[in-house]
Amino acid sequence: MKLERITENIYLYPFEEQRDRPCLSLIKGTKMNLAIDAGHSQEHVEEFYDALRADGLPLPDLTILTHWHWDHSFGCKYIHGFCGCERRTWEKLKNIQNDEAFIDNLLKTDEYVAREYRDQKVSVELPQLVFDESLDIDLGGLHAHCFHVVSSHTDDCLAILTKEEGILYLGDCISGVYPDWKIDPVPFQELIRVLQETDFRLAIGSHWPPFTKEDLMAYLQENLESTLKEG
Ligand SMILES: [Zn+2]
Repeated sequence: MKLERITENIYLYPFEEQRDRPCLSLIKGTKMNLAIDAGHSQEHVEEFYDALRADGLPLPDLTILTHWHWDHSFGCKYIHGFCGCERRTWEKLKNIQNDEAFIDNLLKTDEYVAREYRDQKVSVELPQLVFDESLDIDLGGLHAHCFHVVSSHTDDCLAILTKEEGILYLGDCISGVYPDWKIDPVPFQELIRVLQETDFRLAIGSHWPPFTKEDLMAYLQENLESTLKEG
């Protein structure tokens, strides 16, 4: 798969349906290069890095996780540079790091994880950098504002805003809960409010093509209405 250039300094390695791999991204500053999400596995990390090399781009100095889920975090051991996450994400990863029953069950029950790990072994590594609620990073010419958002997907969802480029990374925060994707309207409405108040041009969710702000807000409103109708 090839990288897509989203803005002057932002590159996207698109999501892949077959293994439900989230998109990965590189934000290129003059002092530091930041990746969003580590990826599903060693193979996923290597494919992303091969695509960066093919376009003459640097490997990341720092990788920030959008939340603890395997497809975003299990690549952590294989990244270049350091990995950082919000404290709740770190704690979730710490809890499952040596939980063989959890990992066995994931491999047995999730067809995408089973496909990803057909020829690989799961090895969970903890991020080196941990922060509470938010983190601001000066990449040189660009700033990344990482902030915790309320979500019905998980309680550790992080959004990342690059103000200069008008890009907001959503991770999976607009989803319902795994594995039935049911949306809890209370946190969902709070999330809609926060996103409405955030200044961005394009939103990048991990398993969707990029949304304009207008399209994202309409999509979320539609989801909210159908959730409320279902009761
Ligand atoms: Zn997720």
